[in-house]
Amino acid sequence: MTVAGDLARAGRTVTVLERWPSINPSSRAFATMARTLEVLDSRGLVDELLADASTTGRVNLFSGVAVDRTHLPSRYPYGMITPQTNVDQAPERHARKQGAAVLRGIEVTGLDQDTDAVTVTARPKGGGETSTWRAQYVVGADGAHSTVRDLLGVDFPGTSVLSSVVLADVRLAHGPAGTGLTSAAPATASASSCPMARPAPPGTCP
Ligand SMILES: Cc1cc2nc3c(=O)[nH]c(=O)nc-3n(C[C@H](O)[C@H](O)[C@H](O)COP(=O)(O)OP(=O)(O)OC[C@H]3O[C@@H](n4cnc5c(N)ncnc54)[C@H](O)[C@@H]3O)c2cc1C
Repeated sequence: MTVAGDLARAGRTVTVLERWPSINPSSRAFATMARTLEVLDSRGLVDELLADASTTGRVNLFSGVAVDRTHLPSRYPYGMITPQTNVDQAPERHARKQGAAVLRGIEVTGLDQDTDAVTVTARPKGGGETSTWRAQYVVGADGAHSTVRDLLGVDFPGTSVLSSVVLADVRLAHGPAGTGLTSAAPATASASSCPMARPAPPGTCP
C-alpha cells in the first residue's frame, strides 16, 4: 500500500490487487519501530497513529535484560504499540487518497511478461471467474509466502527461526502494570504481553 501510494503520488496509474476482502481485524504485528515511524511520518501518517497508540522506549526481556531504545538518533526513539488494523489502514487510506485503485478480495494467480508489458491474472478469493490486467510493471508485495515470487520461480533459501507463534488481541480486566512490552523467555519458548491502548468500546470492558 505504501508503494502504491508513492507511485500514485508520482503520477502513475496504480492498481492494488489484495486477496483479503477487508483488513484482518486481528494483529500479527503490534510493534512499529523507529525507522518505520520515520517512513510513515514522511507520508504524513504518523501523528494520527500515535494519537491512538502506546509507546515503549524499553523492551523488558527475560532475566532482567532490557533493550533501551531511548538513545536512538530518531524523532521516534521508541516502538509504537497499536493494533495492526490501525497500521494497515493508514497506508491504504494514503494509497486511495493519492488515486490508487485498491481492489480487495482479488487473488493473483498468474503472471506473464512479454516485450511490452506484464499480464496479471487474478480471480475472486474463494473462486470465480478470472480477470486479467495489463501493466508496465508489477510490484510483488505479497508477503512471506509470496505468490509472485513463486510465479517468477525465485527461490527463498534458508530456514525458519520460529516453529510456531500464537498471538491474540485480548481485553484483560486486570492487565500488567506499565505500558512497555514485557517478555519472558525460558530455554524453549517465550511469551510477551504488550498493552495496546486500544480504547474499549463503551460497555464491553471494565
Ligand atoms: C507472529 C508475527 C508477529 C510479528 N510482529 C511484528 C511486529 O511486532 N512488528 C513488526 O514490524 N513486524 C512484525 N512481524 C513481521 C511483519 O508482520 C512482516 O514483516 C510484514 O507483515 C511484512 O509485510 P509485507 O507487506 O511484506 O507482507 P504482508 O504483511 O504479509 O502483506 C502481504 C499482503 O499480500 C496479500 N497477498 C498474498 N498473496 C496474495 C495473492 N496471491 N494475491 C493478492 N494478494 C495477496 C496478503 O493478503 C497480504 O495482505 C511479525 C510477523 C509475525 C508472523
